[in-house]
Amino acid sequence: MFQYPRSIHKIGDTTVSMVRGEDADYLKVDGPNPGFAGTCAAGEGFFPLDHANTVLLRKLFPFCAPKPILTSMRTVGVGDRLGIATPGHLRVFEKYDAIPVLAQQSIRELTLTNRTFGDVLDCATRAVFREDFQRGYGADGDHLKTDSEVEYALGEGYTMLTLDCSEHIRNDVLGMSAGQVAAEYAGNAELESIYLGKTFDAEGHGVTFGEDDFRRTCLIYCKAIDHAVAIYRKHVEGRPVDFEVSIDETMTPTTPVQHYFVANELARRGVKIATVAPRFCGEFQKGIDYIGDLKQFEKEMAVHAAIARTFGYKLSIHSGSDKFSTFPIIGRLTKGNFHLKTAGTNWLEAMRVVAKTDPALYREIHAYALDTAFAEARKYYHVTTDLGKIPPLDTLDDSSLEGLFDQNDARQLIHITYGLILTVKDASGAFRFRDRLFRLWREHEEEYSSRLEKHIGRHLEMLYDGFSR
Ligand SMILES: [Zn+2]
Repeated sequence: MFQYPRSIHKIGDTTVSMVRGEDADYLKVDGPNPGFAGTCAAGEGFFPLDHANTVLLRKLFPFCAPKPILTSMRTVGVGDRLGIATPGHLRVFEKYDAIPVLAQQSIRELTLTNRTFGDVLDCATRAVFREDFQRGYGADGDHLKTDSEVEYALGEGYTMLTLDCSEHIRNDVLGMSAGQVAAEYAGNAELESIYLGKTFDAEGHGVTFGEDDFRRTCLIYCKAIDHAVAIYRKHVEGRPVDFEVSIDETMTPTTPVQHYFVANELARRGVKIATVAPRFCGEFQKGIDYIGDLKQFEKEMAVHAAIARTFGYKLSIHSGSDKFSTFPIIGRLTKGNFHLKTAGTNWLEAMRVVAKTDPALYREIHAYALDTAFAEARKYYHVTTDLGKIPPLDTLDDSSLEGLFDQNDARQLIHITYGLILTVKDASGAFRFRDRLFRLWREHEEEYSSRLEKHIGRHLEMLYDGFSR
């Protein structure tokens, strides 16, 4: 049986390593057994990579466990929706000094892929052990909204919380007239004395709170700030946990006044944040490059980055997959001090492998996505996909299928339908695609890893271009 060469680790008189079985990887234990349990097809001295044994791996070999990492200069979240992307991701982080967040899922992603926080973290742990990645990594409970979601992530050992405040942010205020705002605003003497009519400095950028601006900002964000403060005090304060506050899921871009207000209020109330995710101008749609005015983006990014530095945290850039035209700007204006989140792009690379190695299966899935899944999936995602621009499958020969992944509309079609593709069942109750897909990906693991290395590598290369040249 093939033994992963970097997986050989000693603890006392025992050597623990990982081997590749036909359908699964196993643990191999030579010497006194430190407590691994269960049986597997490989026979005596081998153990299944189940949850209990993975927990023990983290205990015996602490480099396999996640830790808070957001205070490092550069960090990049690379969610692994399928649980098979980490070996490819790690090849990238061997070459750059950025620290990865390898486990990174939102509750929505967990639901759509039928997974748990525990399973996502276990997959990262195994890959880190197998590849002997000793530089540390984070585990992010992404876009958590409620107390119980936060508890769930922390209970599974996650070291980073991304608190999504969107349900406490008022989106109706921007459409109000000044009169309506004045009527809704109840008055707050304390906040008025701090902000009203004042100008604050962020590295030379003046941030001024005029009356209407101030009132609107209070109405939009005060509840969200209360929520962040409450979660912080209950779950984060005094613990080794990275805390990110995300205000990116709003209808309009975050203004400098709004960003400054949120940052200053959190600081004033004793909340230590590692990162804030504002919403930037333009569109950060799934799986494709930035849509919008890059000059405007650059202008706003400069102010947001300055505010973040003023308060001593990093900017977090969400939906960062494939936003190549923004990367040099982000790298430069943050001075190489950033957190970037990518998520779904590793799924697209996985599907590209399918298109290349099993055209018939790909055609089946593509047709399902087009005819059935897309209409359902687009309820959850903001995309401007034009299905009419995707070349009909019967006009493409097998060798051209891969080219679909260079076309934005086809990318988004496959990108947003992942949950349905992975979980759809046939009439007999068996998964329609899932088992075939995972078999294929296991068979073509090297191809998948080298694609990820190239694709995620390009993200890092362009970010680093911004500050290292
Ligand atoms: Zn987000």
